[in-house]
Amino acid sequence: MTADSGTATALDGLLTDLATGRVEIVDLTNRLSSATPTLELPAPFANLIDFSLETVSEYDEPGPFWKHANIHTGEHIGTHIDAPIHWVSGRDSHDVADIPLPRLIGPAVVLDFSAEAAADPDFLLEVEHVRAWEEEHGPLPAAGWVLYRTGWDRFAQDRERFLNADAAGSHTPGVSAACAEWLAGTGIAGFGVETVGIDAGNAGVLEPPFPVHYHLMGSDKYGITSLQNLSRLPVRGAVIIVAPLPIVGGTGSPARVLALVPRGS
Ligand code: MN
Repeated sequence: MTADSGTATALDGLLTDLATGRVEIVDLTNRLSSATPTLELPAPFANLIDFSLETVSEYDEPGPFWKHANIHTGEHIGTHIDAPIHWVSGRDSHDVADIPLPRLIGPAVVLDFSAEAAADPDFLLEVEHVRAWEEEHGPLPAAGWVLYRTGWDRFAQDRERFLNADAAGSHTPGVSAACAEWLAGTGIAGFGVETVGIDAGNAGVLEPPFPVHYHLMGSDKYGITSLQNLSRLPVRGAVIIVAPLPIVGGTGSPARVLALVPRGS
């Protein structure tokens, strides 16, 4: 028997709630185009290419009845996931194609430090901040995602303000080395941010450099960047769905990231 023949399944309630709006789908993904802000590493490091579309036919001689295009893109462009092999500390772990699917769907909590980030673009989340959040809102979700709200998504269509760079480097909020190591020791599946990378703009000077990458990738945990609309999520109670391409050997992939959010009663 199947649901089509009238048997109730565990998903029927969800489908009803989606149809009636009791559960809303919120898109956490930045739209992907050649204008999407991307990480700019300083010399001598090499950068990925930006996203672009190359039209192959457009209802014309190379394809009279159809339009299609090649996509050109780095792996770590726009809203994307970092797989463990992205970092030297996770080099023997999962590529993006082999991330276990249960890790990509789970409970999500939102830690809102947008006021702190507005006051100081170099703000770093510390262990005591997360501990204080847990005192108020309960423990971080086992096998779930911690979403770090900084208000940075308001700059997501403005490359200059999004990267906020000067001669001393990029100034965007992040996580301290101690907090990154502590988060890697918890039971979470991953850590999502609104900024261009999961580490702070100035994290190259921390020890180890880029500690969120170092500790999370080294603990088989994942990062997602350039999230949008975290302001539309409850502090806890949402379910996140992270859908990267299964690129064999890939260190990351642009991803569609959605949240299921309960609304009212
Ligand atoms: Mn990345």
